[in-house]
This record gives sequence, C-alpha cells and structure tokens, in this order.
Amino acid sequence: MCLLLPGNRNGTEEMKGFWTLLMGCMLAFCDISAQEGFSCQALPDAVFIRMQGRSYAEGCTTPLEDLRYLTVLHYNKDREEQQGELVCHKDIADDLLDIFRELHKAMYPIERMVLVDEYGADDEASMRDNNTSAFNFRRISGTKALSRHSWGMAIDINPRYNPCIRRRKGKQVVSPDNAAGYTDRSKKHPYKIERGDLCHRLFKAHGFTWGGDWKNSKDYQHFEKK
Ligand SMILES: [Zn+2]
Repeated sequence: MCLLLPGNRNGTEEMKGFWTLLMGCMLAFCDISAQEGFSCQALPDAVFIRMQGRSYAEGCTTPLEDLRYLTVLHYNKDREEQQGELVCHKDIADDLLDIFRELHKAMYPIERMVLVDEYGADDEASMRDNNTSAFNFRRISGTKALSRHSWGMAIDINPRYNPCIRRRKGKQVVSPDNAAGYTDRSKKHPYKIERGDLCHRLFKAHGFTWGGDWKNSKDYQHFEKK
C-alpha cells in the first residue's frame, strides 16, 4: 500500500527509507529462520570451515555445490525439543526436510543431531554418542569402497540403538562397539527402528532403501537413496 503521491520528492525519499527499513527487517527475519527451526541452504562458509579436513576430507570428490546445510527440529526420548543440523546432498534435501517435519510432528525420538565434524568426522565416535548424521566422505567400514555417505545420499538415525551388524571371518562385528545390547531386534526400546514404524515408512515413501533390509549384513540405522 502506498500512501504517498507519485512525484513527491520528499515522499520518494521517505519511501526509500521505508523500503530500506522493511528489507532490513526481512533480512533479519531470514537470518533467524535459517538458524532455527527447519531450513535448507547452500553450505555457509562457517559450516565448510568446520567440515574442511574432517567430513570434507582431503581429496573429497563431492562438489561443494552439491551439498546442502539443513537445520531441523527434533525431540529426544524425554520429549525435549532440540535444534538439529545435517549436511546432505541437494537431491535428498527436500526429502529430509519433509521426513524430519513429520517425525517432529509425531515427537519421534532422536537423541542428537550435530555434524559428524564435532567428532572429528570419526564415524565410530559419532555412532557411539548416538548422533544422527548424513554426509561424511569415507569408505564403507572394512572395505575400500566409498560409502553413500560420501555423496551425502545416506543418513544414519539413532545409530547406537540401531547398530550395523556384519560378519567378518566368521565373527559378528557390531558398529558402534557400545551397541552390543541392541543387536537383539526383538527387544523394544524408544530409539529402535523397525519395519513398518513411522521412521521406516517415511523413508520408504521418499524412495530410500533401509539397511535393515539388506541380506548379507544389517545396518538398522542406515537409509540411502540411489
Ligand atoms: Zn550409514
């Protein structure tokens, strides 16, 4: 709405001041909404500084412009609301925002969601702390093949309670190593992912595959998209 007559010089100056003030308020609002709640943006410099030499390891072949920084809200099992953050590939950014909005609405429990760089990009340390994370330029444990996490196309949810279980030379190997109590999938616990639950249904509906459905190993924390 314009209350000033066109051609009024003083009025034009006043309008300029008004628009400058309005734009300032809008930018301040955008800054706040980028930091809190649910947001998606190209990797801010401050985030890349945290990742460089850690999850964005030397020799990383994933273009920076393919990655997105997300903030999402989630609840822990004590029903306390938390501000989470993730780095993922741009192709799954909207999927993850939709999924985490639905999980937040349902107060689905996720204990912690900070960048794996807070653990020096040490996947085992992040999993041990039950940290939910996505992008990390790394090999599949025990192999030379790059993990889907290397492109930010995979995410691990509540990993300590949904461990990865493999067989190596006839022996069972559990990751993280403090998850032995959670390999029996008949036991109930708040952070457990199982076929047909809300978390599983949402990821499947968005075209992800679940590591709990793999034949040769089981990775109950892991969802990925091709
Ligand atoms: Zn994974």
